[in-house]
Amino acid sequence: MIKHDIMSMTVEEIEDLLEDIGEQKFRAKQIFDWIHSKGVLDYSKMTNLSKDLRQKLEKTASLTKPKILEKYRSEADNTTKYLIELGDSHIIESVLMSHKYGNTVCISSQIGCRMGCTFCASTIDGLVRNLTPGEMLAQIYLIEEDSKERVSGVVVMGSGEPLEDLDATLRFIELINDPRGLNIGQRHITVSTCGLVPNIYKLADEKLQITLAISLHASNDTTRKQTMPIARKYSIAEIIDSCKYYIEMTNRRITFEYALIEGVNDSKEDAYELSKLLEGLLCHVNLIPVNEIKERDYKHSKQKSINEFAKVLKGKGIETTVRRTLGSDINAACGQLRRSFIQK
Ligand code: SAH
Repeated sequence: MIKHDIMSMTVEEIEDLLEDIGEQKFRAKQIFDWIHSKGVLDYSKMTNLSKDLRQKLEKTASLTKPKILEKYRSEADNTTKYLIELGDSHIIESVLMSHKYGNTVCISSQIGCRMGCTFCASTIDGLVRNLTPGEMLAQIYLIEEDSKERVSGVVVMGSGEPLEDLDATLRFIELINDPRGLNIGQRHITVSTCGLVPNIYKLADEKLQITLAISLHASNDTTRKQTMPIARKYSIAEIIDSCKYYIEMTNRRITFEYALIEGVNDSKEDAYELSKLLEGLLCHVNLIPVNEIKERDYKHSKQKSINEFAKVLKGKGIETTVRRTLGSDINAACGQLRRSFIQK
């Protein structure tokens, strides 16, 4: 018999499961509360369930608590990077970012990644597998338990491409947003994609109030193809069209991520070209000096070019922020920590 993955199930699905094994439906809310509100990922600690029921659950529905293997704290910018071991011994990384206005966790959506962006460490060894919704949630629950901090926001911006397994990502959002669980508001959830156009349309049709972030990183297809293989499949024009549809469906502002790489995509011409693409669109641009990873010889743009780039965009009325590179002293760029750990 295939075991159910209880952490990825809704209250209603748990109710059905309980009925199937001859148990009372109302227990579903208790189980859901233990897992998603209290973050208790262990049946033996669910003290309001009978021993008999707990044993039955052990047999029919797996519940595995991933383990925090290591953590690295950056005092410089209040981030803590976690290395987490999953039930099948694979390792993922997540980051807790503490701000004045609350704590945000950056979670991974896959083990590794197959998108192949040339500046990113997560993709170097390819994709191992997708994470289950439960494994996405567990990153947050473990970090809340470890840090004793309440998490108020989530960004799906760690390793992996969250729109590759759209169903898992949608289920994750449904569960983290459930008032009976952690109840994180949709507006406090950001999903970042390299631009899987068909799934941007599907996500738009869900009419969620989450923030969609697009990793653009170039202002024309020729440059984008140099760093992002996905650009051979979908053009920037197609991405922008899907973003317009997303805005139409949700009325939400899109975030465009643009990692500035010296000599690759950071000229004034690039900035003008980008502003042409985005003018009039309900959007926000996040400029990020690329995090230098040891596997590649990309350099981040000089402060002067960054400022000039931002100035061009702002001059065209495009809302722009320059993001600090968070946690660079603790290898917090996507996938770097996991990679250096596995290599050890
Ligand atoms: N696959 C998704 C989400 C994961 S990557 C996506 O592509 O959006 C999260 C963000 O970090 C993306 O914008 C990605 O392009 C960016 N990123 C990856 N490596 C980086 C690096 N070395 N420096 C700066 N940003 C990087």
